Amino acid sequence: MDFALTDEQELLRRTVRSALESFCTKEWLDDLESREEYPADLFALFAELGLLGLGVPEELGGSGGGMVELAIVCEELGRFGGSVNMTYMPTAVFGNQTLLGGADPAMQARFIPRLCAGELRTAFALTEPEAGSDAAAIRTRAVPDGDGYVLNGSKIWSSGALAADYLVLSARTGTLDERHTGISVFMVDANSPGVEIRHIPKLGHLAVRSCEIHLTDCVVPADQVIGEVGRGWKALVRALDAERICVAAICTGLSQKCTDLALDYGIGRQQFGQPVAAFQAISHMLAEMETETAASRWLTRFAAWSVDQGLPVTKEASMAKAYATELATRTATRAMQVHGGYGYSKEFEIERFYREAKLYEVAGGSTQIQRNLIAARMGIPVTGGQR
Ligand SMILES: Cc1cc2nc3c(=O)[nH]c(=O)nc-3n(C[C@H](O)[C@H](O)[C@H](O)COP(=O)(O)OP(=O)(O)OC[C@H]3O[C@@H](n4cnc5c(N)ncnc54)[C@H](O)[C@@H]3O)c2cc1C
Repeated sequence: MDFALTDEQELLRRTVRSALESFCTKEWLDDLESREEYPADLFALFAELGLLGLGVPEELGGSGGGMVELAIVCEELGRFGGSVNMTYMPTAVFGNQTLLGGADPAMQARFIPRLCAGELRTAFALTEPEAGSDAAAIRTRAVPDGDGYVLNGSKIWSSGALAADYLVLSARTGTLDERHTGISVFMVDANSPGVEIRHIPKLGHLAVRSCEIHLTDCVVPADQVIGEVGRGWKALVRALDAERICVAAICTGLSQKCTDLALDYGIGRQQFGQPVAAFQAISHMLAEMETETAASRWLTRFAAWSVDQGLPVTKEASMAKAYATELATRTATRAMQVHGGYGYSKEFEIERFYREAKLYEVAGGSTQIQRNLIAARMGIPVTGGQR
């Protein structure tokens, strides 16, 4: 058993940390978020550092590595705020991993090298107004027509859709009763006629807009279906497992950053003639934050390692996601408490993490759905735990 990162993994971690420390300053992020402007220059930096190609074979223009490397990078991104990781995930995780999960070699060769090089951006569009947790109930329809498909329907909460070149979009090619087996996944040109994208104002992750998408007679060529028609869920499972592990890693980074900020503040802030961190009520809180963050890291890295070993991973990914996301909310709340009134000020970084943490308990499959997935794999007949 070896818990240590390899020299290459440690170099990757340090490179990402140091690049983001110089690039993603608080002033830069505050400015972008106040204008809700997409950080195209940050996306370009990800490409330059080879991060968009992680988990992608080198012959497809990737940087190699696997899920462990993706988890290492996502933990670092989590230290810098939701806008930073929401710039990364839609292309590096949803785009690449869905294509790797289902597309034929020609389609992989057509899209993946350009995603890794940062020449194209994708956004993921699975959720619909009437189909959130119950993703197999999507109603957007794709009907064969000549050389392609005609799509009609609505999507919601697609993050980064306004900045994307292509939407990795799921639609129903079978009947509603077929559930998972009646779904196909399309690479939809975001600028094609019949695609309308609208921004939904939200609480955090402000530089990357999450969007409604309306499709009206949108034509998609047949060579832009990812995998076999009606078997799109197979491609999605790879991306959704990767998403849960990456979100768990992001939340581990968020929790570590909140712990570090609270520790610094608690040591520096004097009340009653001593640092507030030295009061037992606060020192024990900090000790728990540190301990739980370590637990979150190891659950996440174990799930990532399981992917790289080709082991079944749905249960492990759900365990990591449920634990790490609830911890992120708890740790951000505790870090706010250690900061006292100053934590509520925009002058301090902690308020951003406090606003952003809650999202992770919902997006990417809510905590309740993760528990259903775990329970189903313990042999319990739950509704909403099958995939
Ligand atoms: C900011 C943001 C960004 C997002 N980005 C994307 C994106 O890029 N692409 C995309 O496709 N989607 C995205 N999503 C959608 C996200 O994945 C969904 O919000 C999530 O899956 C939950 O669906 P819902 O919001 O419809 O909640 P619902 O499914 O309506 O759930 C409501 C509540 O009921 C609970 N619940 C539902 N079913 C069960 C059950 N069987 N057992 C127990 N409890 C249950 C849920 O846990 C939740 O607490 C994003 C969401 C947000 C808020």
